Amino acid sequence: MTIDPSAWTLGAAMNPIRVTIWNEFIHEKSKPEVQAIYPQGIHVALSDAVERHLGDAVEVCTATLDEPQHGLTDELLEGTDVLTWWGHVAHDRVEDDVVQRVQQRVLEGMGLIVLHSGHASKIFRRLLGTSCMLRWREADERERLWIVDPSHPITEGLQGDYFELPRAEMYGEFFDIPAPDELVLISWFEGGEVFRSGCTFRRGKGKIFYFRPGHEAYPIYHDENVQRVIVNGIRWAVPSGAEYFGTGRNIPQALSPIGKKRRG
Ligand code: ZN
Repeated sequence: MTIDPSAWTLGAAMNPIRVTIWNEFIHEKSKPEVQAIYPQGIHVALSDAVERHLGDAVEVCTATLDEPQHGLTDELLEGTDVLTWWGHVAHDRVEDDVVQRVQQRVLEGMGLIVLHSGHASKIFRRLLGTSCMLRWREADERERLWIVDPSHPITEGLQGDYFELPRAEMYGEFFDIPAPDELVLISWFEGGEVFRSGCTFRRGKGKIFYFRPGHEAYPIYHDENVQRVIVNGIRWAVPSGAEYFGTGRNIPQALSPIGKKRRG
């Protein structure tokens, strides 16, 4: 095996992370109370936050449901290191061939950050293989997010044992997901439920981070801790590692001579 010396430089890590922020972008146009919180859309609020936190280390673009191919063209996906996904009322309007292409890119190494009600998106359910359903309630409850993996890059910079959101929609267990590879945050809600709020998964070469907060009726994506977790998630999900071989390969020619084996 030969190693290209240029691959050893840290140059790759110094290239800007190419982030695409995808948003269904429906509530912000149809509900005045949501528009008041996100006048230009959740995607623009997230985009501003990511740029503010990461500066020159990131190149952000946005895409929304109503654009051709939902904005997720082959060219854009090829040039995306990490895709974030927010959707709620229009999961079934996302075209299956777009879902297929996003899934393929994840298998090839593109990071995927799935936010809040994105748990029910086609792409998340397809990648995880379960219903991804849960209990929910909208009752202005306090949410306390406990840090259960302080060693994880996604919790970097958070202070204390937990952080809180004063008003949130409740999501409760059972959350029908496969056992996460890593669990970094668990939420407790005022009404008594708990929820696995920060979960990581790997599919193919791609890293997936599910992060619960983000109900559109609350200013949750303006919260400093929430932004920090999302930004950390993006940095964690950047493609890394070795060359990926995602298809079966028949290798008729042995690499080394194979000795005669005695049978019986
Ligand atoms: Zn919600």
